[in-house]
Amino acid sequence: MENVSQLKEFLATPKNIIITTHYKPDADALGSSLGWAGYLKKLGHNVKVISPSDYPKFLHWLPGNEEVLIYNQKNTAEVEQAVKNADLICYLDFSCYPRLEEIAPIFQSVNGSAKTLLVDHHINPSIQPTFSFHNVKAAATAQLIYELISELGDKDKIDVPIGEALYAGILTDTGSFKHPTTTRRVHEIAGELIDIGVNTTKVHNLIYDSNSEQRLRFLGYVLSQKLKVLHEYRTAYITVTADELKQFHSQTGDTEGVVNYALSIEGIVLAAIMIDRGENIKLSFRSVGDFSVNDLAAQYFNGGGHKNAAGGTCYLSLQETEKKFLEIIKQKKEELLKVKT
Ligand code: 5GP
Ligand code: MN
Repeated sequence: MENVSQLKEFLATPKNIIITTHYKPDADALGSSLGWAGYLKKLGHNVKVISPSDYPKFLHWLPGNEEVLIYNQKNTAEVEQAVKNADLICYLDFSCYPRLEEIAPIFQSVNGSAKTLLVDHHINPSIQPTFSFHNVKAAATAQLIYELISELGDKDKIDVPIGEALYAGILTDTGSFKHPTTTRRVHEIAGELIDIGVNTTKVHNLIYDSNSEQRLRFLGYVLSQKLKVLHEYRTAYITVTADELKQFHSQTGDTEGVVNYALSIEGIVLAAIMIDRGENIKLSFRSVGDFSVNDLAAQYFNGGGHKNAAGGTCYLSLQETEKKFLEIIKQKKEELLKVKT
């Protein structure tokens, strides 16, 4: 970051600081937010983390979770007031306003006094902040927070709670240190976090080994009944109806990661899941190699993300969304067949 010394100067006196992240935050969104919040509190700032929505139960253990202000229609005034009083607004793990969903207008209408900080690794940022720490090559926003705190000269302020929150983000956004974004530096940071006392086994168990019975049965059902494999397009996908979500008492987070099972089939280079959320269809995409699901999500489904992991929204019916997806992969057949794995 070019203006890290200006940010340091700005943080030298106590400020009212808001941290927010994307709708339905995942472990990186929330982990980076809570890690950054923990650090800023140590500097003596008044910090509030605002989430635009609820998030999965397997993230409730994150240090600082109990203080997160989760937006719902009843606390709009509280969110508005907090934003109005802020000296600094931090946007973590997203970089375009629509990802804040309903609370986007509150943040977009901020004018004048509040400074803004963006820390993110998604493609095509559109928010223009006062301080920017954006790098599409970073494995996780939590990695960027670790680097930012280090560049601010405060690595020694990263304690176990901050470290656990950051480790959670790095662990999940790298797919457990599997994705090509997992550089030597990422492993070094993980090593440094272990050095300060982060219990990596504990973090892994809290995130990945805390399935509810319902979630596992739901997973079994969609993999056995709803997975479609089109080898001729090297594509596999899953559709989930609103009734199925109800039948399995689906909770926030229960569908997270399901799309990865479709991608794990040998020879498959593109995977998708389409979920009928009632008001719209939410899509998640995964790919391998050079096939960009960021481009696919941005071009056809009002979304984006990363080259190999992206999401979007569709306002057609589930059936029509599936049809649209099938037309797209027909068009992209040549490209899909060429992907090197
Ligand atoms: P997931 O499929 O796990 O929900 O998301 C994969 C990646 O794409 C994540 O980095 C997530 O932040 C991003 N993403 C998911 N949905 C959207 C969306 O609707 N718009 C944009 N711009 N990014 C998304
Ligand atoms: Mn992330």
